[in-house]
Amino acid sequence: MSDHAAAPIRSGSCLCRGVTFRVSGQPLRVGLCHCADCRKSSGAPYAAYAVWPIEAYDQESGYTSTYANRSFCTTCGGRVAWLSEGEAEVPIGSLDEVPTGLAPEYELWTTRREHWLGPLPEAGQFVQDRPEAEPTADAQASNGPGSVHL
Ligand SMILES: [Zn+2]
Ligand SMILES: [Zn+2]
Repeated sequence: MSDHAAAPIRSGSCLCRGVTFRVSGQPLRVGLCHCADCRKSSGAPYAAYAVWPIEAYDQESGYTSTYANRSFCTTCGGRVAWLSEGEAEVPIGSLDEVPTGLAPEYELWTTRREHWLGPLPEAGQFVQDRPEAEPTADAQASNGPGSVHL
C-alpha cells in the first residue's frame, strides 16, 4: 500500500524522554475527558486524547508500568499510551510536535467540567462515557468497565 508512506508520523515521549513512541496516520478520534480517573492520573482538570488503531502505534524505547490501563514512564511518571487489544489511546500532551493539529470532536463526563471551562463549540457533549454506537469486536470481547474509555 502506498498510503503508509504518505501517512503523517508523529513522535511522542514522556517527560524524561526515556519512553519514546510513534503513531502513524490520522487518529480514529480525538476527545477530552473530565472524568475522575483522568483527573487523578494526569493531575490536570481534564485530559485530551487521540485514539489510533493499535497497529499504528509503536513504542520505540523506555520502560512503562501500567495502572488501571494507563501506562506511565517508570522513571518520570509521565503518562503515555493506554493500550488495548484494538486501540492505542495517546495523551495529546505526550506528542512531541506542537501544536498537534488535532482537535477534540467530543467531551466526556461534562458534569465534572470545571466551571471556568466552557464547552468546545464544535465538540459533541456527553454527560458520562461515550455511547458506543458501533462497538468493535475487541471491545465486545474484552468487556467490562474501562475496556473502552474514549
Ligand atoms: Zn520518563
Ligand atoms: Zn476519563
